[in-house]
Amino acid sequence: MIEIDGSEGEGGGQVLRTSLALSIVTGQPFRLFNIRAGRDKPGLGKQHLACVRAAQQISNAEVTGDEVGSRDLLFAPQGTFPGKYRFSVGSAGSAALVLQTVLYPLLLADTESFVSIEGGTHNASAPPLDFVQHAFLPLLRRMGADVLHSAERLGFFPAGGGLTHTRITPWGRREPLMLHDRGAVELRAVAYVASLPDHVAQRELNIVRRHLNVDRLSIEAPRTMGPGNALCVYADSDHVTEVVTAFGKRGKAAESVAKEAVREMKDYLKSEAPVGEHLADQLLLPMALGAGGSFRTLPPSLHTTTNISVIRRFMERRIDVREDDGAYIVEVAGSAGS
Ligand code: ATP
Repeated sequence: MIEIDGSEGEGGGQVLRTSLALSIVTGQPFRLFNIRAGRDKPGLGKQHLACVRAAQQISNAEVTGDEVGSRDLLFAPQGTFPGKYRFSVGSAGSAALVLQTVLYPLLLADTESFVSIEGGTHNASAPPLDFVQHAFLPLLRRMGADVLHSAERLGFFPAGGGLTHTRITPWGRREPLMLHDRGAVELRAVAYVASLPDHVAQRELNIVRRHLNVDRLSIEAPRTMGPGNALCVYADSDHVTEVVTAFGKRGKAAESVAKEAVREMKDYLKSEAPVGEHLADQLLLPMALGAGGSFRTLPPSLHTTTNISVIRRFMERRIDVREDDGAYIVEVAGSAGS
């Protein structure tokens, strides 16, 4: 039984999701204690419980400690069972984080799966739909994994109510990912305003236009269960697309939302590394399960270093991080037989 101390490193939900995914993929049971000890409200939240339940369903796992507030979880998978699933986060919690949990076991299964997830599509501290569709999945496709992902409805915090659909085809030939340069970059921005006045989006885009050399600006006003605002700035480069997102909330000026996104995009552009902070932690798992590779990135976040140490608990993989001329190179050895 692998024992993992959830207070180590980032001390958040990612330790749980990576452990669930790798436990199913490798067939090794685990115990996670001190769950999310680094957070204000430690233990499993609804969002995390949804990940546990989804992982349990696709692996027929024996589970103890699966309740809201639990700080100790035992998880023993019995295999991987691809098929048609519908999961619900039961709050505005992120649908993408549930997908992140079940994606790799289902990709490595021998038949196709269809996964529908009800929850939020644009949540702070989670990959927004734009990022999943335009930044993350194209790189996964380059690694040989065919995943079709769409949203029937968008969902914002706090009402949620989004619905995503994902078709996961068994991973064919696994290809290494080599991503060291960006190439030429074009910027564009999308401001989402759900049940909010149009001027919120206009003011955000005015700031973006003033501070960044953007080619295209657009406003989306989706029909959703509740109000919400997100501003996504895309950097479409020859070799990668990055998406930075800032979220509006009650009492936060549209200008502040936009300045946050502008700052993050400027940091990304200044570094010249193709892989931003969030892509970096999310690429590790598919690279370790796929054919490995290497990428150039910004200084590794605590999410990245924590994810590396959790991966090492389940698999013998060489993952090196080294500084290189102001940026960092992450090198991941792939799986044998890929
Ligand atoms: P906790 O509630 O304990 O903080 P969590 O379940 O919300 O945990 P984290 O451990 O914080 O999860 O992990 C969040 C994940 O979402 C990470 O993979 C991170 O890279 C990703 N993420 C956060 N913000 C963004 C963003 N703006 N764009 C893309 N990905 C993001």
